[in-house]
Amino acid sequence: MAGTEVKVPDIGDFKEVEVIEVLVKPGDAVAKEQSLITLESDKATMEIPSPSEGKVSQIKVKVGDKVSKGSLILMLEGEAPVQTPKAPEASKPASPAPSAGSDLECDVVVIGAGPGGYSAAFRAADLGMKTVLVERYPVLGGVCLNVGCIPSKALLHTAAIMDGARALASHGISFGEPKVDLAKLRDFKNKVVGKLTGGLASMAKMRKVTVMQGTATFLDKNRVQVDGKTLRFNYAIIAAGSQAAKLPFLPDDPRIVDSTGALELKSLPKKMLVIGGGIIGLEMGTVYSTLGARLDVVEMMDGLMLGADRDLVNVWQKFNAPRFDKVMLKTKTAKVEAAKDGLKVSFEGADPKTYDMILVSVGRVPNGKKIGADKAGVTVDERGFIKTDSQMRTNVANIFAIGDIAGNPMLAHKAVHEGHVAAEAASGMKSHFDARVVPSVAYTDPEIAWVGLTEDEAKKNGTAVGVAKFPWAASGRAIANGRDEGFTKLIFDAETHRVVGGGIVGTGAGDLISELALAVEMGADATDIGKTIHPHPTTSESVGMAAEVFEGVCTDLPPQRKK
Ligand SMILES: Cc1cc2nc3c(=O)[nH]c(=O)nc-3n(C[C@H](O)[C@H](O)[C@H](O)COP(=O)(O)OP(=O)(O)OC[C@H]3O[C@@H](n4cnc5c(N)ncnc54)[C@H](O)[C@@H]3O)c2cc1C
Repeated sequence: MAGTEVKVPDIGDFKEVEVIEVLVKPGDAVAKEQSLITLESDKATMEIPSPSEGKVSQIKVKVGDKVSKGSLILMLEGEAPVQTPKAPEASKPASPAPSAGSDLECDVVVIGAGPGGYSAAFRAADLGMKTVLVERYPVLGGVCLNVGCIPSKALLHTAAIMDGARALASHGISFGEPKVDLAKLRDFKNKVVGKLTGGLASMAKMRKVTVMQGTATFLDKNRVQVDGKTLRFNYAIIAAGSQAAKLPFLPDDPRIVDSTGALELKSLPKKMLVIGGGIIGLEMGTVYSTLGARLDVVEMMDGLMLGADRDLVNVWQKFNAPRFDKVMLKTKTAKVEAAKDGLKVSFEGADPKTYDMILVSVGRVPNGKKIGADKAGVTVDERGFIKTDSQMRTNVANIFAIGDIAGNPMLAHKAVHEGHVAAEAASGMKSHFDARVVPSVAYTDPEIAWVGLTEDEAKKNGTAVGVAKFPWAASGRAIANGRDEGFTKLIFDAETHRVVGGGIVGTGAGDLISELALAVEMGADATDIGKTIHPHPTTSESVGMAAEVFEGVCTDLPPQRKK
């Protein structure tokens, strides 16, 4: 055979990898290290270089062929190869060449160190990219760790134990009235936050992620400015998050706070108004009410915690009725006057009232308009969201957006997954955000958790579903816990019997919902769930039993009528 055989070199763990491009043709003169073909696995693309210079005499592969180490690629006339070329690296951006006009250079810059941002930065670093993480505050962790998920859960956990201890009176165990040391409680919450944010800082160090403190704004599609310094990047991941929405007519008064202010626990009000009946307002309301405040809630819409099915919310509302003096639905807050003896609030559709503290929780606004996105050509919508494709790529190919800024639901776990996708896509991997469902949880007492299609949505869209419920009043564990007010509901596709959604209300519902999320992702049907052995006695059994209810085979309830 004329010439030298050029074969696929050692390509690491990859086998049977598809040829997606043939970059040369017979008669071409090729230089040493010139790319001959491109291979693509599910994890990476890689180019195979020529081991020597020469002239291509025959091509032995075509697009679509599957090759492994040793497969013949082509025949080369001329100089014989002197050595087997090194395994090619999965395609990833080359570090930018040093250039004038920048103080620092990197493969990828991540703007914002919340759950989306730090996850993206850590994944990018793990994939071998030179990564800079820019955060305007001195601590990492963003809203979630510093003034969101974590501190609120630290306080909700404390509140749940206080409520649980009180409830033990009916079991014959009494502790007397709790004494609240607000400074100590604040310290506990701050320690929890410090432990987690400190952990992030050391993990950034271990990965050699450069953390820059400062506010980043785009100069163009390859440069950001961070407090006077210019940083040049190949890829940017925008993870600048969101902030609490404000009501413009409210006076500036320290007794009027948003969730961040409420988490500071500066004082304990006797009478507190929560403006906005969403999850964040009701979680913080729960904490203050357990610590001793009487609550009113005012909501413009016709229900609390919209998004969750009403039957789930009704259980929570009935159980929590004693916390509230008034729940004002379809009611607007019209005016607040900050007087010395209290905050005097007028409503449209309800009588005026005076409060010691007002918590404003009327939603969150994405920070899209605050990063100079226009300079990079990134489109930001009128609300401040940045639209992306399924790889989290914005309209500008080398810039990604993730987390709250990239759209609803504004949840930390969604941000984390999007962060991983963006980092992987920037490194050349074919990752997409293709999760079927994102679970939602209200960490109130009882907790409400739901995932996938809700029953209310199915009714609205006319989707044919089958719904099965298992009441916790029939759960041995829930009864033993003295908390049997909840239920577990599964929603199935009427034809395939595959689970498409579900909701749980009850203690620990936020932990239980993961099983339903997994079931939806795996395309499980009612038999798969019902035949999975759940440990007894647990509230998790209610998931299996709800599936059995759907199949008409549940023996923990009175006999079901034949379908
Ligand atoms: C009280 C409360 C409770 C919550 N509880 C939960 C919960 O239990 N579970 C849940 O999933 N979600 C919860 N959330 C929502 C959750 O906090 C957010 O969805 C999550 O933090 C979003 O992550 P992110 O990475 O998109 O942005 P963020 O966490 O908002 O982080 C963005 C970061 O970017 C920084 N930044 C912004 N602009 C710039 C700039 N130009 N330059 C440099 N840095 C910048 C900000 O300082 C911030 O640190 C809660 C939110 C609140 C307010």
